[in-house]
Amino acid sequence: MNTEIPIKSRSRTEFINITGEVQKTVDKSGIKEGICYMFVPHTTAGITINEAADPDVVSDIQNELDKMAPYSDHYQHTEGNADSHIKTSIVGASELVFIENGKLRLGTWQGIFLCEFDGPRNRKVWVKIV
Ligand code: ZN
Repeated sequence: MNTEIPIKSRSRTEFINITGEVQKTVDKSGIKEGICYMFVPHTTAGITINEAADPDVVSDIQNELDKMAPYSDHYQHTEGNADSHIKTSIVGASELVFIENGKLRLGTWQGIFLCEFDGPRNRKVWVKIV
């Protein structure tokens, strides 16, 4: 089963918790045991799994990524979003989570985040459940 989750980001950098949306997709699939693949088809937005309980964690990740790829740094790509491309490559474009008893099997503190690095924009996550 393939589906697409539309996501609207509201700021240039934003980590959007999409765990609930992904779980809804799993619910609709009716699959109780399997694998949920998520793929972000963008070059300035990615996906990651990390702590969803304390919002300071994603803030810290964003701040450290800013240090690794600052907004302005004599980049050759002059579109004004070179840092966004670099951050996207660091976090990656895909994740997978096991499905057990119809539920995403995540760790207690884990959440799935769409990582926006060049918003606000309309984004999408492709989800394949097998
Ligand atoms: Zn660009």
